[in-house]
Amino acid sequence: MDLEKIVSVTSCQSYNFPLVRQSLAAMLEPFGGLEHFMGPGSRVLIKPNLLTAAAPEKVVTTHPAVIKGLILAAQETGAQVFVGDSPMGGTLKKVAAAAGIMAVVEETGASLLPFLQAKTVSFPAGKACTNFPLAKEALEMDFIINAGKLKTHSLTGLTLAVKNCYGFLANKDKMRYHARYPIVHDFADFLLDLYLAIKPGLSLVDAVVGMDGPGPRVGRPKPLGALLASTNGVALDAVCAELTGFSTNEVTTLHQAARRNIPGHDLRKLEIKGPLETLRCRTFDKGISIGGWSFLWRYAPTLARHLQQRRRAWPLVSEECNQCGTCLKHCPAEVMQVVAGSREKKVTIDYKKCLRCYCCQEICPQGAIKI
Ligand code: SF4
Ligand code: SF4
Repeated sequence: MDLEKIVSVTSCQSYNFPLVRQSLAAMLEPFGGLEHFMGPGSRVLIKPNLLTAAAPEKVVTTHPAVIKGLILAAQETGAQVFVGDSPMGGTLKKVAAAAGIMAVVEETGASLLPFLQAKTVSFPAGKACTNFPLAKEALEMDFIINAGKLKTHSLTGLTLAVKNCYGFLANKDKMRYHARYPIVHDFADFLLDLYLAIKPGLSLVDAVVGMDGPGPRVGRPKPLGALLASTNGVALDAVCAELTGFSTNEVTTLHQAARRNIPGHDLRKLEIKGPLETLRCRTFDKGISIGGWSFLWRYAPTLARHLQQRRRAWPLVSEECNQCGTCLKHCPAEVMQVVAGSREKKVTIDYKKCLRCYCCQEICPQGAIKI
């Protein structure tokens, strides 16, 4: 059996913990359970989506009930479990506490693992990048469970398993790579290279309640009632896109995976285990979608690049801004500043140098940046 072709889809209609545990067990069954991957003495890292400090009901982060279920399932094999990430909006401890994950780490006896040190990893097969400064703490693990959250994303269409691996970079490196790849499809190639360089042993997406609209920080909670997993993150992303009505072209990482013929992008070649048809969502608000022009990307990539540069949307600072300054710290091009206006201070953007990476929209706690 080729596990890389299997995507397991399970119905899970709420975060009620006994239900989540039962659903996780059903989701892992096609892979032979976690004991297929780990055992006594294994050091296992669970990497949630911990973008920034937000309560579970905001659906910004992987839900604590899912993380708790995974910790317990891994511990039952005899493994030692760590939960780690490098969040954008604050220290891991602060973000994990707000997300309810610190509480489940303490309750289960797992360990919180901030990513503090980087180790350069060579990936000669990379298309956009062949060397990555990855979290040393993650590289020392025997097994990685990549536990993402299904949300819309202004740059990639959706953030799922592949995009969740961006958290294996330290924050200063995240900003550097945003600046290095201003073309969205180049950035998608970078994300794919990064995912393939790490290649987590198992990827999971929490879509019990996802986020639609202007994600990934201030979109709307969207109940989808699903937990999904695969050993192949690209295949998992392809099925999540299908679940929410996105075409391959609308999720830039899938678009590039198809162009590069990376295994998993083609649904026809996957074995989907579970009730995908009954869980399919036809009312998912895709937010802004940067993908498309697949014909041009295939036959006239130079023109596609040119059009993307000219037609991509700009970030706008709305009146909801309270000048907290958070976005200024995360702008990779350092083109945002607080200036004194005629009546009050306001945040301005130097559009001549703006990369349109949308990090400001992703991090703004007020939802004040509109694309
Ligand atoms: S745009 Fe958002 S993050 Fe930036 S200063 Fe205003 S409120 Fe803060
Ligand atoms: S202003 Fe926003 S979109 Fe422009 S470079 Fe800075 S963070 Fe990116």
